[in-house]
Amino acid sequence: MLGFSLRPYKLSIREIKYFSFPGELLMRMLQMLVLPLIISSLVTGISSLDSKASGKMGMRAVVYYMVTTFIAVFIGIVMVIIIRPGKGSRDSPVSSSGNIEPVQAADAFLDLIRNMFPPNLVEACFKQVEKLQANVSIVFQTIQETVEESVPMGGTSNGVNALGMVVFSMCFGLVIGNMKQQGQVLREFFDCLNDAIMRLVAIIIWYAPVGILFLIAGKIVEMKDLVQMGGQLGMYTMSVIVGLLIHGLFVLPLLYFLVTRRNPFTFIAGLLQALITALGTSSSSATLPITFRCLEENNHVDKRVTRFVLPVGATINMDGTALYEAVAAIFIAQVNDMDLNFGQILTISITATAASIGAAGIPQAGLVTMVIVLTSVGLPTEDITLIIAVDWFLDRLRTTTNVLGDSIGAGIIEHLSRQELQSQDIEIGNSVIEENEKPYQLISQENDTAKHHNSETTM
Ligand code: ASP
Repeated sequence: MLGFSLRPYKLSIREIKYFSFPGELLMRMLQMLVLPLIISSLVTGISSLDSKASGKMGMRAVVYYMVTTFIAVFIGIVMVIIIRPGKGSRDSPVSSSGNIEPVQAADAFLDLIRNMFPPNLVEACFKQVEKLQANVSIVFQTIQETVEESVPMGGTSNGVNALGMVVFSMCFGLVIGNMKQQGQVLREFFDCLNDAIMRLVAIIIWYAPVGILFLIAGKIVEMKDLVQMGGQLGMYTMSVIVGLLIHGLFVLPLLYFLVTRRNPFTFIAGLLQALITALGTSSSSATLPITFRCLEENNHVDKRVTRFVLPVGATINMDGTALYEAVAAIFIAQVNDMDLNFGQILTISITATAASIGAAGIPQAGLVTMVIVLTSVGLPTEDITLIIAVDWFLDRLRTTTNVLGDSIGAGIIEHLSRQELQSQDIEIGNSVIEENEKPYQLISQENDTAKHHNSETTM
């Protein structure tokens, strides 16, 4: 309401920037916490589980991510084929500058794997490999000339290499877990770091409503008139929204209900603040601190599960993005009067899944990885221009779906892993008793080694 009431005053870009400043601050505060949160939660999450339990949990997470992403892509494809938003002649002509070197899907895929293994961990905190980026910036230059829409591209190539940090932290956690007693110091360090970061989150959460208010109101003041969203673009937007709604309000809750037999909507109600933050920030990474808090405090999901599943989910599990990529690619094919055969649709669904895994959890990252999907079936990459005008809006909605998918995943995986968690609880209970007895054992062991040492030196 604040945003709409300010629209008639036609604020200048500078004024809008000042107006949304409190929102920008929230975004920065959240981003500030993401890196230490990802590292500390994954390291503690994995090192506190034994390798069998973490292997099982990891397996369940991967199956959940794959299944839900494929369902999302399928819904997207069905929607865009039923609604056919791109039928009829082209609404807006596009300048096609033929000098764009097509990005090979294989190269983009290799980049994804390269990013998993950062050669320099410090650099990985602020940079990632992005061959795609170079090509995409050419596309975006064309787009910016045509549409005058600013896309925060800087974040992508210079963003945190979340995937690399996730892979490193997981391996590190696994190794620390296997080091048993020797790794205790590191385990306690990361545990303490994680607690400290969560305390910071508890403070920032008080500021979140103000920040989100200004983020969303600022965007509403800034947006172009909705009237221009008629025709093909309007129908395309509708297809994405309907798809996201079906996935978020029907498929995911149904899955949660089938697995846990609990009311999915009470679970979702506990996530409301995270979902609204996702809507405000359009970044699932930046929302991560709030998602943690909602799941642990409101929904009482086991910390061992959230710490393990959420950082990975925020980085690779993006149902909303996958759905959107599939819809967008087929929409562009329809606009170009290109009939896609079954093989091409299959290619789109596979590349859309890969593109959603490769997309970083930052605003409009999905638009960049769109290029992979388009080139995989030979569609013109400069046609991204057609959808860029509504992307800021769809980005918010798909980010909300992404966060919902990750959170419901945590609920489902906790339920499926309850046996391992329980047996671990019993083991911990036992080891606590053993710990109490340990000083005597340790003392006698130390005495033994000291004796041994003495006898060696006297010899
Ligand atoms: N903004 C989305 C996210 O952070 C990614 C995307 O552009 O689809 O989850």
